[in-house]
Amino acid sequence: MFSNKDITQFAELETPFYYYDLALLQQTLDSCAVAAKNHGFHVHYAMKANFNHRLLDRIKATGFGADCVSGNEVKKAIERGFDRNQIVFAGVGKSDREINEALDADIFCFNVESVQELEVINELAAKKNKVAKVAIRINPNVDAYTHHNITTGLDENKFGVNAWDLPACADALRQSASLEFVGIHFHIGSQITNLDVYKSLCVKVNEFATWFEDRGFVVRILNVGGGLGIDYHNPEQQVPDFASYFKIFGDFLEKRDNQEVHFELGRALVGQCSSLISKVLYVKNGKKKNFIILDAGMTELMRPALYQAYHQIENISKQDVSAAVKYDVVGPICESTDCFGKEVLLQETQRGDLVAIRSTGAYGEVMSSHYNLRENVRVAFGE
Ligand SMILES: *Cc1c(COP(=O)(O)O)cnc(C)c1O
Repeated sequence: MFSNKDITQFAELETPFYYYDLALLQQTLDSCAVAAKNHGFHVHYAMKANFNHRLLDRIKATGFGADCVSGNEVKKAIERGFDRNQIVFAGVGKSDREINEALDADIFCFNVESVQELEVINELAAKKNKVAKVAIRINPNVDAYTHHNITTGLDENKFGVNAWDLPACADALRQSASLEFVGIHFHIGSQITNLDVYKSLCVKVNEFATWFEDRGFVVRILNVGGGLGIDYHNPEQQVPDFASYFKIFGDFLEKRDNQEVHFELGRALVGQCSSLISKVLYVKNGKKKNFIILDAGMTELMRPALYQAYHQIENISKQDVSAAVKYDVVGPICESTDCFGKEVLLQETQRGDLVAIRSTGAYGEVMSSHYNLRENVRVAFGE
């Protein structure tokens, strides 16, 4: 819900822009930190969800580490003051340059996704006379029951080491003097709303930890990744249920005494704290359909075009909620997929009305592009 004060502020700004509610962000971060602390769990923020500096600074101040998926994210995490000892680096395609830079930065750990990558990191670390800490990202073949484009933990996905490659992994680890094995890592997908999925993950984590222990390895870190979803259909339900989420891992992981449990949350931390605010440029009433054409498009928010993602859309210029017309809400970009919602029930809308596209804090601003030579996306903050 936006206050009249918010809407007055929005009317003075050039649209479109991402509006970030920093008070809500803080509330979400605090809630997560408290719930994690109850179990002694460690949280890394998955930076790819949003690397806006104002958000990163809050997240760092909460004491979370950083989960990076590129060399530039590692650099950014260090630049924003994240503790090097709390930086992890995942990704199926780390380049030699990215590995070298991460070695120079002395990050906490590489989450390694193939046997060949182990060999490359070993070689590059040896050249620098360093020992690289590594966790093996295992593909546990657990279905996350989420959109197929954001599932990552099935045999058919490109991510992680498959179970049948683990013996080769163990051999490579034994033979690599410049690698230190610290634990195992998993990340099975994003926007996971069925928490039972995490019970299945825990069962697999226990099995794989035992597999390594049986072969003489000490598994110090269990990193279970992220993926906790948010309620896109109910943006007013703003803080995810972190307590229930962490409790599953507390109950189902067979944690050894000296083991640490690490998480990599992205969307759940930042998703609800932002809306994309846009202005209605034109209203086109047709025979079959009515269109609202916004000044924001897939160049500002790509999720609907990329994976048919749902975002709640509200006309925030209208107080009266009764009059309802169905509109296809589209952007100005020359692509038919540039559509934020079909048959969206809204108040009768006019040119100049402000529209809020809700729950855009995660994978919104960071995926914006210059396609059609569009300008850099704008941002505004509220407290
Ligand atoms: C993207 C990603 C995450 C975070 O996913 P969310 O769904 O945003 O929580 C965590 N770990 C890895 C390795 C990732 O690639």
